[in-house]
Amino acid sequence: MEPRPQSDIVFRTEGVTKVYATGEVKVYALAGVDLELHEGELTVLLGPSGSGKSTLLNILGGLDHATEGRVWFKGMELTGMNDRALTRFRRDHVGFIFQFYNLVASLTARENVALVTDIAPDPMRPEEALDIVGLGHRLDHFPAQMSGGEQQRVAIARAIAKRPEVLLCDEPTGALDSKTGVQVLEALDRINREFGTTTAVITHAAAIRKMAHRVIRFQDGRIASVEVNETRLHPHEIEW
Ligand code: ADP
Repeated sequence: MEPRPQSDIVFRTEGVTKVYATGEVKVYALAGVDLELHEGELTVLLGPSGSGKSTLLNILGGLDHATEGRVWFKGMELTGMNDRALTRFRRDHVGFIFQFYNLVASLTARENVALVTDIAPDPMRPEEALDIVGLGHRLDHFPAQMSGGEQQRVAIARAIAKRPEVLLCDEPTGALDSKTGVQVLEALDRINREFGTTTAVITHAAAIRKMAHRVIRFQDGRIASVEVNETRLHPHEIEW
């Protein structure tokens, strides 16, 4: 494979460590991570529970600080930014999706998405974002009237409505069965293909690696391997 030019790199880390000190005991959540996420790619992060995946994603997304090492988003160094600058970075560039959807129960799907579009500089209309995730017919439903998979797709619509350059997803299908999980993955896959949104997905379900451009395996706070898929499966071809 041809080496890619540096400009293709969206996130880069160099020697990132994260140490949690609880009393006398030090836990190395990350023990020296050098990583690159490439423009337009969908990367799957695999590895056992406790191997450091969430910690890394939170540092990339500016939700947390590294203990040591350096982190760049394109030309911008995140390391050393204060919380206010990190908040601006998140707002301008990053969409997050977590295992639990964090929707406002008293608001409809459309209103949940509008919470974000009301404050973003160049947002999609909530209807457009919900249409992209296949929920154009559920605009006025409340979270309690939707399945877990539908609620997660509302959360995805909310994340993409501000047109972020990157989507960081921490176990987006973790609370879903395989069938509804596939619909969530299809939404992520579609966004990646149509908008070229650079996407990172943490998952326990190893089969999901088959839809990725690139698969990074974590072990004990380190990267154990990086693989590039020559061919990718569509989410509906994946079962777990
Ligand atoms: P993964 O996402 O791969 O399951 P995490 O990044 O959540 O792994 O956790 C990596 C390690 O860091 C684990 O040993 C975990 O217990 C520890 N850890 C994570 N967050 C904290 C915290 N806030 N305080 C103390 N230890 C933590």
